[in-house]
Amino acid sequence: MLRRFFSFYLPHKKLFIIDFSSAIIVALFELAFPLAVQWFIDTLLPTENWSMIVTISITLLLLYILSTFLQYIVNYWGHMLGINIETDMRRQLFQHVQKQSFKFFDNTKTGNIMSRITNDLMDIGELAHHGPEDLFISVMTFVGAFWIMFSINVKLALVALIILPFLGWLMVVSNLRMNRAWKKMYGEIADVNSRVEDSVSGVRVVQSFTNETFENQRFQANNQKFRKAKLRGYKIMSFSLSGIYMMTRFVTLAVLVVGAWLSYTNQLSYGELVGFVLYVNVLFKPIDKISALMELYPKGMAGFKRFTELIDTDPDVVDTKDAVEVATLRGDIRFEDVSFGYDEHKTVLKGIDLSIKAGETVAFVGPSGAGKTTICSLIPRFYDVDNGAIKIDGIDVRDMTKQSLRSQIGIVQQDVFLFTGTLRENIAYGKLGATEEEIEEAAKRAHLESFIDSLPFGYDTQIGERGLKLSGGQKQRIAIARMFLKNPPILILDEATSALDTETEMIIQQALTELSKNRTTLVIAHRLATIRNADRIVVVTEDGIAEQGTHDELIEREGIFANLHRVQFQR
Ligand code: ADP
Ligand code: MG
Repeated sequence: MLRRFFSFYLPHKKLFIIDFSSAIIVALFELAFPLAVQWFIDTLLPTENWSMIVTISITLLLLYILSTFLQYIVNYWGHMLGINIETDMRRQLFQHVQKQSFKFFDNTKTGNIMSRITNDLMDIGELAHHGPEDLFISVMTFVGAFWIMFSINVKLALVALIILPFLGWLMVVSNLRMNRAWKKMYGEIADVNSRVEDSVSGVRVVQSFTNETFENQRFQANNQKFRKAKLRGYKIMSFSLSGIYMMTRFVTLAVLVVGAWLSYTNQLSYGELVGFVLYVNVLFKPIDKISALMELYPKGMAGFKRFTELIDTDPDVVDTKDAVEVATLRGDIRFEDVSFGYDEHKTVLKGIDLSIKAGETVAFVGPSGAGKTTICSLIPRFYDVDNGAIKIDGIDVRDMTKQSLRSQIGIVQQDVFLFTGTLRENIAYGKLGATEEEIEEAAKRAHLESFIDSLPFGYDTQIGERGLKLSGGQKQRIAIARMFLKNPPILILDEATSALDTETEMIIQQALTELSKNRTTLVIAHRLATIRNADRIVVVTEDGIAEQGTHDELIEREGIFANLHRVQFQR
């Protein structure tokens, strides 16, 4: 774990070395200062050599200025090192999340992912900066100070040494407990985030059911759990800090009393006594630093642990070693004995055999939950089949790179996801870097033109978060415009018009018909009128593909489709 943590320093070696060496020089200066004071009192003052005293004072002043400058470097560059590492980790995590398969997102709460990328990494930067540096400096100062103290006076040094075991015990015990407390705290804040994400993105549902009080209570429950966990961490921390404070001040007092006696019995000079008391203070610095580290280390490491947990979650749909980059596909799709389940307890598709010719329009109908969407999700490898294979133009989709495979498949769904931004940006999402002409052409073909012309800001209209300011039909047309830009040989229309009123549906149907020209098109629709023109209709039930054929063939057959048809059109 630690080794892995340190590997993040590698790209920032230079910064680390500058920061670290500056910190060491500052620490050495601090360490030497009491010795200088002692020498000043015991040796220099009695000589009454004033010019020497002035020279020495000026030298000290210059050293102070140098040390101040180095401290600035340590603070600023050291934190820069920390922030750089934090930013690197955040970037890695975000990239990693982007690579995850649909299955991962089915099973992971969005708020949880957000926590890991944002909050959890907050303390890492601080730890990365202070961790190794403060630890090293502390040990160095501590050992150095004791060594000098022993050389000044053994008895007095032993007095100071007595507290060490107690201090060590206190630190270890509270460290362990704090570690647990912070880990729990991060878990709780992740839950708080999930709640916020859920309630805020569902706020329209919440308000329409006037369930605000319920949401508040749910949120408050998580919020309180977080409060409790964090408070527990602080309780342990406060206890340990107070303990440390008490022990260290106690030692100062003991040194002063014993030192006074030693000096009274002529075993210690005044300079040595002053120097010694100063050294006790030098000792406190690393103790303060280490106790700060004791808060920082578990916090940072708890975040780092959660970071590695997510980074180590391998995406389950990946390119194989010798995956091929496919050029434009014709769009021949073949399902060969395909079985699939979202989890091992329940198979959704069993032994599906289906072959779709390039350019054909195939409609899928059947009861909701039969697996129509699932069939379509397997083609772009949103999920991988458990058994059998899906081949496009004779090549197994698992042998193609995901990038080249997915660039050839366009999907229009019932709910269109739009990004916060302008209309233009949302249309251009179909082809990043599309020219103005291409965007306008696509909008025109998607029958968006008159709508856009009617807007005061036209293409620059902000569509609100997730397209909130648009109607279902308008969103759908943006999705279609994206497809014209993407221009894929394979098109999947999953209930694309199901949520629309009949009039809007007609306009969009026109655009869709135009869109599906010269492409292999898979249409899922529950309004049978919309699929009358399909080349073939496939009826999917929970037991698999029940019947297939043209519209007229299926009506004639008097089977499931004929039944569905009768129900929908009899009125
Ligand atoms: P259809 O599109 O025909 O209505 P789906 O393909 O969406 O049906 O669903 C088929 C079955 O798979 C249903 O039982 C559904 O509950 C289940 N299912 C769909 N999506 C998921 C998912 N992401 N995770 C787990 N089960 C799912
Ligand atoms: Mg569906």
